[in-house]
Amino acid sequence: MSKLKIAELFYSVQGEGRYMGVPSVFLRTFGCNFTCGGFGMPRGEMSAERDAIAERVVEFRDYNQLPLVSTGCDSYASWDPRFRDLSPMLETNAIVDRIMQILPHRRWEEEHLVITGGEPLLGWQRAYPDLLDHDSMHRLKEITFETNGTQPLSTEFKEYLLRWRAQREITFSVSAKLPGSGERWKEAIVPEVVCEYEQVGYTYLKLVIATEQDLADAERAVSEYRTAGFTGPVYVMPVGGVERVYNLNNRAVAEMAMRKGWRYSDRLQVPLFKNEWGT
Ligand code: SF4
Repeated sequence: MSKLKIAELFYSVQGEGRYMGVPSVFLRTFGCNFTCGGFGMPRGEMSAERDAIAERVVEFRDYNQLPLVSTGCDSYASWDPRFRDLSPMLETNAIVDRIMQILPHRRWEEEHLVITGGEPLLGWQRAYPDLLDHDSMHRLKEITFETNGTQPLSTEFKEYLLRWRAQREITFSVSAKLPGSGERWKEAIVPEVVCEYEQVGYTYLKLVIATEQDLADAERAVSEYRTAGFTGPVYVMPVGGVERVYNLNNRAVAEMAMRKGWRYSDRLQVPLFKNEWGT
């Protein structure tokens, strides 16, 4: 029986991308290859909010008690090792039991499964077949991997997904990290990986924008993906894990999307639920 280290497992409305508004189970795995400390910061500076929270880590017993941040990665506790004790390692059977408990009819109906992170396509690829092959998961029709687009699929997992999608739908929502995240271009923009996802499922880019400089970076990134053969749609989404920041730039980003002919993705979890953990 495979195991997964689970940061969060919750039921909510998908707030971003292609499935905005769809009731979904979110399975947030632990671990990420990035830290994204630059979100919401002046170019070249890194957020210190996470470090300040980590100094008080013993005060927090579960995710719902953790403070929200207005700069840096808003799901910091799902990968920073200082918060790892909040994320249990569970066998896939136990995860499926929990999923059934949070589904409103105790079985899959029209709901969607979102596997997110952290970065869900790190080493956990080997555990997903056990999870998806569980008897209670057979009615599931749609799954999205929310990924940063840097992790190649293993041969075994790719073959598994190609079989799985014969009667179902797979989506890769690729939130590639532009320099405004604080990550380096060479590691973050990996077009050949995203083109491989496109062979397996419906794949789109979802780029976080705060400034005109981010927009210029987005244009350059999209050009590199297109040159490599990527054909999927491009969404732009406002930065903002808290309402104050989100409200500052959501309209501007929507207007940028219209100018470029790209799609606008909201972050419905911010106005609806204040982006609290578990939403
Ligand atoms: S890739 Fe995503 S989860 Fe990982 S640090 Fe960046 S924003 Fe956070």
